Amino acid sequence: MPFQLIKTKPAARKLRGYAFDPSLSIQLDTSTLNNLTYKVAWERLQPGPVGEYIEVVDWDPSSKCLYKPVDLDDPFLLAQDGLQPSESNPQFHQQMVYAVAMTTIRNFEKALGRTISWSPNRKSDGFSADYVPRLRIYPHALREANAYYSPIKKSVLFGYFSAAPDSSALLMPGGTVYTCLSHDIVAHEVTHALLDGMHRRYVEATHPDSLAFHEAFADIVALFQHFTFQGVLEQQIAKTRGELATQNLLGAMVVYVMP
Ligand SMILES: [Zn+2]
Repeated sequence: MPFQLIKTKPAARKLRGYAFDPSLSIQLDTSTLNNLTYKVAWERLQPGPVGEYIEVVDWDPSSKCLYKPVDLDDPFLLAQDGLQPSESNPQFHQQMVYAVAMTTIRNFEKALGRTISWSPNRKSDGFSADYVPRLRIYPHALREANAYYSPIKKSVLFGYFSAAPDSSALLMPGGTVYTCLSHDIVAHEVTHALLDGMHRRYVEATHPDSLAFHEAFADIVALFQHFTFQGVLEQQIAKTRGELATQNLLGAMVVYVMP
């Protein structure tokens, strides 16, 4: 009987990235746990990456530069779990935002038991709306210490800026900080977009607490995702000897040292 080759679609795509942000990779006690391989749902990707949910557009208006989009379906990258983490490689930045955004989307879909949808574009008549297939992500959209979700553009925009660290051991003073390389910032901003897709009026400041709810919810999702990283969880439980009420990385929002 002839041997039959059965090709099945892989369940996941593995992509290397930071569990927190690049500053933890240069500290001895956190450098190992900060290397994480994200497992995101398998899908065919166009260079960008552009997939079913997300379109990464790497246009930097301050530098008037369109960075070459990463092709994660390239056989060499597929065989090596994507590009290796690097602060200086814009294509890795594209990979990092894609990996964290898809992880956040999948966690929402697991919790909801259904597929998510982005907030539609409302037409001027106030009743009808256009379907938005993909959220756009701009890894280098602003030259400032900021990142935000734009409900009008249906986009998430990340900034970058010069570092002014408290400790020169953490970052080179004058080095560049990329908000798109922070797991917590990417998860936080994508959560704003996901929440907007579920409750479209929550972005309207009808009450002082409505925008505060958006912010708190986005922070909580970023924090809870720390608990899904098995290596981080094991290391932090061991380090705190199981007393998670003590200071640890699981309950901390890790963002670069802001100026
Ligand atoms: Zn926010």
